[in-house]
Parts: sequence; structure tokens; C-alpha cells
Amino acid sequence: MAFGWIDEQADARRRAGLVRTLRPRPADTPLLDLASNDYLGLARHPEVTEAAAAAARTWGGGSTGSRLVTGTTELHTELERELADFCGFEAALVFSSGYAANLAAVTALAPHGSLIVSDAGNHASLIDGCRLARATTQVVAHADPEAVRKALGTHAGEAVLVSDTVFSVDGDAAPLAEFAMACREHGAGLVVDDAHGLGVLGPGGRGAPHAAGLAGADDVVVTATLSKSLGSQGGAVLGPARVIEHLINAARTFIFDTGLAPAAAGAALAALRLLRREPERAARARTVATELHARLTAAGLEAVRPDAAVVSVRAPSPESAVRWAADCRAAGLAVGCFRPPSVPDGISRLRLTARADLSGAQIERAVRVIGETRP
Ligand code: PMP
Repeated sequence: MAFGWIDEQADARRRAGLVRTLRPRPADTPLLDLASNDYLGLARHPEVTEAAAAAARTWGGGSTGSRLVTGTTELHTELERELADFCGFEAALVFSSGYAANLAAVTALAPHGSLIVSDAGNHASLIDGCRLARATTQVVAHADPEAVRKALGTHAGEAVLVSDTVFSVDGDAAPLAEFAMACREHGAGLVVDDAHGLGVLGPGGRGAPHAAGLAGADDVVVTATLSKSLGSQGGAVLGPARVIEHLINAARTFIFDTGLAPAAAGAALAALRLLRREPERAARARTVATELHARLTAAGLEAVRPDAAVVSVRAPSPESAVRWAADCRAAGLAVGCFRPPSVPDGISRLRLTARADLSGAQIERAVRVIGETRP
């Protein structure tokens, strides 16, 4: 039978208790949310939602075409200018998702015959960028500048190092300054995905590259998402103007994809302006993460010390992680659950996000529920 192998895989998933399900989120959820990526609590901020609605009224429900045809509005170019300025880079380009931005940056900046050095903890979208690129990829040990140096030393031609700034599974940060140094020793470019750093790290949330002194560097390219701290949807690439010009002309996920929806561009722009006005939101997200980690540890749970707003809690097995997350939900707490095959290291964990708008009482309640439901 056609697609018969799909049923075999489905049976295996059911037997392992690892079936993924889609649960529509009620608009007005009674759950305490430590699962979303709305790090700064901006997704429902009235200025952000109103900007989205106003953009849709002015420009329409969709962008109507690819960026190079009809899909660029004034909102897109304003957002690009302000994002680049905020993060300290010469230029920026927005995409319909962070995933598309990563595919664009990696494929367009790693030409045929070049070497991509890729950190073992990278997000799936960077991994897929490596798979699509016409370059050779060498995966190196996680967060290991020496391993990067060694890999770069094996190749004489063009090379690029690709890494997350904050790794999405455990919330640990990459040694960015050391990565940049290793790249410079070998004349290689550095492409970093700041999906979890923008809005959280650096002064006023200007991102991990800014914090590492790499803003505006001519050999550094940053990708980001508009769907986490900025409470919207979409992605971006930031870097030297000549790199952005190259992407406009060469990146397939830019050229052949419909432009970011105006509502998403408007919402992200409003969120960015809010963050400029209220820079303390970034520091608050970091403080909440530190407090969450301290309380979890005090309750005897094995939590990874967070470098940004993601807090990872170890679970004994994939099945127990799935059950633990379900028990939290039943007790009114939404948490993320990462388990194989989503995690390459095979370690299952609950993944908590520390939102800037969580109160002390909410943090306390979350830790109590996680402790009471532990497997
Ligand atoms: N990079 C990282 C590190 C991410 O966590 C994500 C989102 N899960 C993405 C890229 C993709 O971004 P988007 O959701 O905007 O496609």
C-alpha cells in the first residue's frame, strides 16, 4: 500500500507514548504560561495588537506577493531600518519566518566548494540550511571554540561558522566572542542565530552579538525571529549592507517566498519601539529566568543554569517527560516538553520560558506545580 510505512511509524510512536498532538489554545486561557516564546509579554500588548490591526486595514490581510514584486510595504522597510539600527548593524532584511531567514543566510553565504562548520546544538532551521547549501558541512562539538579552530584549519577555501547564540533546548549561550576570534584567525565568516537572544540579552535587549561586542562587524551576520521577544511572526537577517544586498539577489527563501504579512511587520515594529522605550523588559526576563532556576534547584529539581530566558529541567525518560508536562497542564501550568527525536542528545526535559511579565507569585506557583508533579 502507498505510504504503508507511515502507519508503521505511527504504531511505533504510539507504542513509545510519543505521539504529538495539536491542541488549539483557547483565546482566554486559564493556564499559567511558561511554554510560549513571548519572552517580553508583548504579543498581547495593546500597542502591538493595534499596530497589527492597523497594518492589516491599511495594507491588507496578506502582503500580496514576493518582496521583489508587491510584497514590500513601507512597514517592511521601516522595520528593517529600525531593527538594524537597534541591534547595531548596517542593514536588515525581514522574512516570512525565522526558519526562512536561516535557510537564506546559510545557503546564500556558503557557496559551492566552501566549508560550513556547524555547532552540534544548532536549531533545526540552521541544520536544514546546511543540508540545502552546496557546501560541505562539518558538525563540531557543542560550544567548543577549539573544535571550531580545528575544523576551520582543515579547509583552505571559503568557510563560515554557523551557531545559535542561545541554544533553544537547554538555554545555554554560545561563546560568541571566542567563536568570532576563531573565525578571524582563519578568515571565516560567522553566522549566528539570535532567535533567543534578541530582546533578552545585551543592553536593552539588543541581542547576544551586541553583548559580545560584535555589533556592526563586517564578518558577522545575525539571524533573528520576530516571533519570540517581539511578539509577532517572521524572521530577519542583519549584517553588513553588502551581505543584505547579496541576500536580496541570491537567497531563494527571500526571492521566491511571499513577503511577511503587513500585520506581522506592523506588530514587530510596534514591539521594537516598545522595547526601545521600556528597555527594562529585557533585564526583567533575565531576572525571572534566574529566579525560576534558583527556586527549581532549591526544590531539588535538576535545572540548567539559564544564560537567557529559557530554563531547562531534566526528566528521567521521554515517557516521563511527556507525562510530566501533561500533569503540569492538568494542574493549570503550560510547559514545553522536549524529547527525542526533537533533541539530538536523547535527553528529555521540560522547557520553561521566563517571561518578563511573570510575577513572583506566578513563579512560585509554577515551581510548586512542577515539584508536585515530578515523576
Ligand atoms: N531559530 C531558533 C533558535 C528557534 O528556536 C526558532 C523557533 N523555534 C527558529 C530559528 C525559527 O524561527 P521561526 O519560528 O520564526 O520560524
